[in-house]
Amino acid sequence: MSDHGALPSRAQVVIIGGGIVGASVAYHLAELGWTDVVVLEQGQLSCGTTWHAAGLVGQLRGTESMTRLIQYSTDLYARLEAETGFGTGWKRCGSVSVARTEERMTQLRRTAAQARNYGVTAEIISAREAGELWPVMRVDDVVGGVWLPGDGKANPSDLTQALVRGAQRRGVRVFERVRVTGVSVGNGVATGVLTDQGEIEAAHVVNCAGQWAKEIGRMAGVTVPLHSAEHFYVVTERIEGVRPDLPVLRDPDGYAYFKEEVGGLVVGGFEPQAKPWGMDGIPYPFEFRLLEEDWDQFSIIMENAIHRVPALETTGVRMFYNGPESFTPDNMFLLGEAPEVRGFYVAAGFNSAGIASAGGAGRALAEWIVNGAPATDLWPADLRRFARWADNDTWLRDRVSETLGLHYAMSWPNRELETARPLRRSPVHHLLAAAGACFGSKMGWERVNYFGTAAPYTFGRPEWQPQVDAEVAACRNQAALFDQTSFAKFTLKGPDAAAVLRWLCTAEVDVEVGRVVYTGLLNDRGGYEADLTVTRVAHDEYLIVTGSAQATRDFDHLAKGIGNNRAVLVDVTSAYAVFSVMGPKSRKILQSVSKADFGVFPFGTSRLVDLGYATVRATRVTYVGELGWELYVPAEFAVTIYETLLGTGITQAGYYAVEAMRIEKGYRAWGRELGPEVTPAAAGLGFTCRKSGGYRGEEHALEPAGRHVVSIVLDDPEAHLWGGESLLHEGAPVGYVTSAAHSPTLGVAVALGFVTGPAIEKAQVDIAGGLYSAQISRKAPYDPTSSRVKA
Ligand SMILES: Cc1cc2nc3c(=O)[nH]c(=O)nc-3n(C[C@H](O)[C@H](O)[C@H](O)COP(=O)(O)OP(=O)(O)OC[C@H]3O[C@@H](n4cnc5c(N)ncnc54)[C@H](O)[C@@H]3O)c2cc1C
Repeated sequence: MSDHGALPSRAQVVIIGGGIVGASVAYHLAELGWTDVVVLEQGQLSCGTTWHAAGLVGQLRGTESMTRLIQYSTDLYARLEAETGFGTGWKRCGSVSVARTEERMTQLRRTAAQARNYGVTAEIISAREAGELWPVMRVDDVVGGVWLPGDGKANPSDLTQALVRGAQRRGVRVFERVRVTGVSVGNGVATGVLTDQGEIEAAHVVNCAGQWAKEIGRMAGVTVPLHSAEHFYVVTERIEGVRPDLPVLRDPDGYAYFKEEVGGLVVGGFEPQAKPWGMDGIPYPFEFRLLEEDWDQFSIIMENAIHRVPALETTGVRMFYNGPESFTPDNMFLLGEAPEVRGFYVAAGFNSAGIASAGGAGRALAEWIVNGAPATDLWPADLRRFARWADNDTWLRDRVSETLGLHYAMSWPNRELETARPLRRSPVHHLLAAAGACFGSKMGWERVNYFGTAAPYTFGRPEWQPQVDAEVAACRNQAALFDQTSFAKFTLKGPDAAAVLRWLCTAEVDVEVGRVVYTGLLNDRGGYEADLTVTRVAHDEYLIVTGSAQATRDFDHLAKGIGNNRAVLVDVTSAYAVFSVMGPKSRKILQSVSKADFGVFPFGTSRLVDLGYATVRATRVTYVGELGWELYVPAEFAVTIYETLLGTGITQAGYYAVEAMRIEKGYRAWGRELGPEVTPAAAGLGFTCRKSGGYRGEEHALEPAGRHVVSIVLDDPEAHLWGGESLLHEGAPVGYVTSAAHSPTLGVAVALGFVTGPAIEKAQVDIAGGLYSAQISRKAPYDPTSSRVKA
């Protein structure tokens, strides 16, 4: 497969890594007409991780965009053999997942409902039906299962060869035994690679180096947060009754999966505590290599496998595979252009789903490279969900010991990762802990979920609900104090700052000093790249505040928007704590510790005020629908100010209360209701688009939309929503829930979600197979305080 002859000195694109992912990126670049592409592989094609993958291709993922990405993989793998003449081993054998507990069954029912929403066929089946589909399994302890007929399996090395052949036919050149030793970067732009056989100039460099991708990233100064862990399966001798058309079987409660191979079984799995590997880097060469057998580590999978398939007790093992694979801090892969270096792209960290994901991920990245922007919403996999802090080997090692097991762990709502914490802490963390905070984590930050003891996870009403209800009531009736230090904060300064933001923002930001503006930032298709607040703090300076999780992404978007203008963007997140005082009594409380006049302080304004002994920036906005102020406090004053505020006797509250209140009030959140494929018209946020125009994405921002963000209020006060549930109208799926909470104010579950097609007033929500009636509206269910908020 390798091209012969000397390496070219120049190419439009250089892809580092000839595993299935590099092959797929090359294939799709060529398909889009970019054929001046060179793939460099240090060993032979697929010799890294790809060759020893088990080859399972499961379609269902947590989000619509990721599910569609893998659906595309299955379509591609089904046609690749006919197109290239290379066998791929693709077989659409379907898959069965079984549940050992009622809770797992609830999860499967929720999953099946979501699957139908995303156009994936999924059928809930009984234990008996599962046994019919998979006769060699024991089902006496099985509660039920789900059948996904579109899932399949393939031969990973053959798939790689077929993709490479498809790419080569269109002109892509592939060089084996060429090792990349450096990445050339000039003025923040990738300009090529250095190899052990010379240099290649390139306009685009693509890092598809699998578990080596972190090191390749470091050559360019780019954070690629992944770490290897050992990953296992065994191949057994033949077993009576194991036929070639046997579906893939998953028994997540037993951490195990099963796949037919030559009349025997591939038995693998995802143990809850993984074994990180490669702490001192990956040895070189490491070609078609496996690690030593570790039956101790594998025993939890094997014991459960024997329980499920008793024939395994007496069946011999032909081969034990222990291959390292790279895992990421959140079990999702890493895709996109690096925020640190223009023209340097990453597709790596596939968390043992690289065969399933390669087709879709390769196409998505190729589109990103060719168009300069992703064609769909790829946020769950976007490299920019991390930042430089994630490039720490010790942190990564500890975290991936947990993430490998997430594949088969219960997907509890609001599940928090437990390892490698705490990492980033607010200056007042000790005060929050002393007050009994139950912390969650976001973007590495410890944040208060609520004040109270940790409660068991559930799909029903959680034990912490009364505490969160009390925090909401305190805020709605009196006032509450929230630590929101994890907000990302940037300053944009320079003579052209206003001009830059006027182009990027939908709302008018060329406002008086001291004004605060809530605005969208759109892409060329009119979809939301961000929504944030912009405060003009000086004629030539703005303070920009956005959600914790979007810190890197929004910074990158803003930085790209500066172009040649005279403005400088600086991340000042670590410089300020943020304390929000929200509620009808907030004015009185703040007035009691300040000489500034909180009586004359209009909504949407911001100014420096004295507070206790310090001077802070007070900004009158709200994300909870109550009168209130966000206080931006230089970090060294944070403890002093927080203690001053606590001295007023104010109630402390956490993010679950914020979430409940913003949903009651219909406020949208980026990553849930807002995203790159949602326009202001679809979001019901047309009012944030200035009439005078002149902003990016303007042509499409207000075009009539096919689907809309709606508020949802359940009728049954006992039912609990978490998000992800399907919406049905007259029996047909019309949308799904994006965010949900119990509303203590209304006494029922409230939610936000999408509805496709004409406006409706009623729908049914599918909660794990049960149908519950709900009121649908494009207006927020809670608005009695609007006059108070604006007062
Ligand atoms: C035991 C096991 C079972 C698995 N089962 C499944 C499964 O059933 N389904 C599924 O979807 N996934 C599965 N996976 C995961 C899957 O194998 C990987 O996610 C996938 O192969 C990753 O592909 P890749 O192209 O990113 O990495 P790789 O295949 O590792 O390719 C990266 C390539 O980059 C090359 N390279 C690195 N550094 C350099 C350099 N400096 N210069 C040039 N070349 C370089 C390497 O030699 C390597 O060939 C499994 C993994 C393991 C370990």
